[in-house]
Amino acid sequence: MQGLPVCHTQHQRIVDPPAPERYWRWIFLTLLVVALGLLPIVSSAEPLTLDGRAGELPLSGKLLHLRDPSGKLNADAVLSQKTDWQAATGSAVNYGIDASSWWFRIDIRNDGHSTEEYLLEVAYASLDHIGIYLSDGEKIVTQHLLGDQRPFYDRPIHHHFFVAPVDFPVGETRTLLINVHTDGVVQLPVSLWEEGDFASHDQVRQLVAGIYFGAMLVMLIYNLFMFIGIGDRSYLYYVGFVLSIPMFVSSLTGYSFQYLWPEAIIWNGKSIGFFLTSAMLFALFFTYDFLELKRDSLATFIKTGFRAVVIIGVLMMGTVFFAPYNVMLISVISGATLACSAALIIGIYGAVRGERPAVFYVLAWSSLFLGGLTLAASKLAFLPQNTFTDNAVQIGSIMLVVLLSFALAERINQERRRRYDAQMEALKNERQARQAKEQALNAQQQANLQLESKVARRTEELAKANAVLQELSDSDGLTGLRNRRYLDNYLDREVTRCFRYQHPLSLILLDIDHFKQFNDRFGHHIGDDCLRMVAEQLRHCVARDSDIVARYGGEEFCIVLPETEMEGARAVAERIRRRIAETPFRVGRDNITVTISAGVTCAVPTSPDHGAALLQRADEGLYQSKNDGRNRVTCMPS
Ligand code: GH3
Ligand code: MG
Ligand code: MG
Repeated sequence: MQGLPVCHTQHQRIVDPPAPERYWRWIFLTLLVVALGLLPIVSSAEPLTLDGRAGELPLSGKLLHLRDPSGKLNADAVLSQKTDWQAATGSAVNYGIDASSWWFRIDIRNDGHSTEEYLLEVAYASLDHIGIYLSDGEKIVTQHLLGDQRPFYDRPIHHHFFVAPVDFPVGETRTLLINVHTDGVVQLPVSLWEEGDFASHDQVRQLVAGIYFGAMLVMLIYNLFMFIGIGDRSYLYYVGFVLSIPMFVSSLTGYSFQYLWPEAIIWNGKSIGFFLTSAMLFALFFTYDFLELKRDSLATFIKTGFRAVVIIGVLMMGTVFFAPYNVMLISVISGATLACSAALIIGIYGAVRGERPAVFYVLAWSSLFLGGLTLAASKLAFLPQNTFTDNAVQIGSIMLVVLLSFALAERINQERRRRYDAQMEALKNERQARQAKEQALNAQQQANLQLESKVARRTEELAKANAVLQELSDSDGLTGLRNRRYLDNYLDREVTRCFRYQHPLSLILLDIDHFKQFNDRFGHHIGDDCLRMVAEQLRHCVARDSDIVARYGGEEFCIVLPETEMEGARAVAERIRRRIAETPFRVGRDNITVTISAGVTCAVPTSPDHGAALLQRADEGLYQSKNDGRNRVTCMPS
């Protein structure tokens, strides 16, 4: 019933699918297969014929199957079982998780011209026990026992999938029996290959796998160095993720059993779940760090959801080591689906909030989903089956890894931009602060300058006032000449100086003649005017800066002449006497003659206290002049 014509039709459909026709065929075939599946099939179907055509001959859709829940039947017993065989319900064999012993059979006749070497390939690496039997109708002629519950090197051909040699003599019919017994999913993607075709086809598959693992290795090393260089924890989680994904894929496809742990049967059974879970946990922690879920501003449901998924991940890891295989498989697959969805939802949430790295993140996870969908669609024949669709998940995971790497780089960039902006802002603030400080300093300097100039002005004014005060305190109020106090100080100073240098110093003491009478005659006011007139004449007669004229008291005056000999002093006194006598003093209409008498002395001081003796001598001279008749000068050498 399901012989050659159906096989050919199906084979062509996969290789060359005209688009509109495909759907109709798909619907038609589904209906047909489902209808046939409902009937018990007798094994008297036409055998599959081998006609020497090259290529892959998929057997999955053409197998009859028999479920033996007890697991007690052996190949001989199954062979004699004529009834109870059922046709496959589709082009692929997939009976889910069922620990029964499953038997599959097909009759194959070689109509070719030569005995070709054929290979039977089961392209699913996770089956526990596989028995392959070839019968000539009466007895078993060839038998191979495979499965991942046996050490790798027990396999007749060292391949990551299960491959066994099978012979079909020309013109004979052989019954092929396949027994599958597994704790996991019962899948049997089985094909018959002409040996040479298998080798050339397998080269392509190994090349593709090499590219995939190579790409992952490059990403792993690159991101490991990024972590060492940058020290960002996200990179470490990411490296864990990039290590787990290819390890999961290689465990699923049998590569790691072949190359990494060919003897470790128990570990091999756990490796798929282990690496899927570790990938999930690393992805979660990466997401947590990468999308900064620890931020306070984030919605509570996102955080709670994240924690719940992490707990589920940890529980999953528990099932990997402690639960039976089928429980582990269900928990791991559903947990991973949940985690993937959670990661995607959180990513979309971030992207909607306008975070650029989150956009890359969502694109990355979407590509893995798309890969999964593509594979599923090709298995269900919605898409053609080819190298691309077979490896859609691998391509999706490479895209995931590459896009996440972009997302990381983008985030690093963003952080660098943020840091740069913050630095710029800090610099600006600092500049502003410095300017403000400078302004304050300038203002203070200005204020100081103003204060200083004010102080200087005040000091100057004060000095002037002091000078005026000093002048006043050193002056005689009536005549404006130096007063007695100033004279005493000055005389002391000059005597000391002339004593030190042994220079002469002269003194003139002079007194207005008969001034009492003058006062009595004209009054005190006129007497004061007369005193002022005499003072004026004295000022005119004394030339040198070091000479001073002082009012000695009443109508007596004293003139100090440092560095002056007796003769000079006498001349000065004489000049004064003459000048006053010759200067008429007007009182009303009368011209009054005023005269003075003077005593002159000169000495080189013999001690600093010589001043008093000099005054004494000058006074004696003055007394002599009065006695001698007044209006004269008397010299008294000391
Ligand atoms: P002589 O010196 O020639 O012997 O006679 P005399 O009249 O000047 O003598 P005496 O020294 O005794 O008189 C000094 C007078 O000078 C007394 C006083 O009336 C007068 N006299 C002193 N001081 C002042 C003064 O400040 N103003 C006025 N107007 N007269 C004064
Ligand atoms: Mg007198
Ligand atoms: Mg007098």
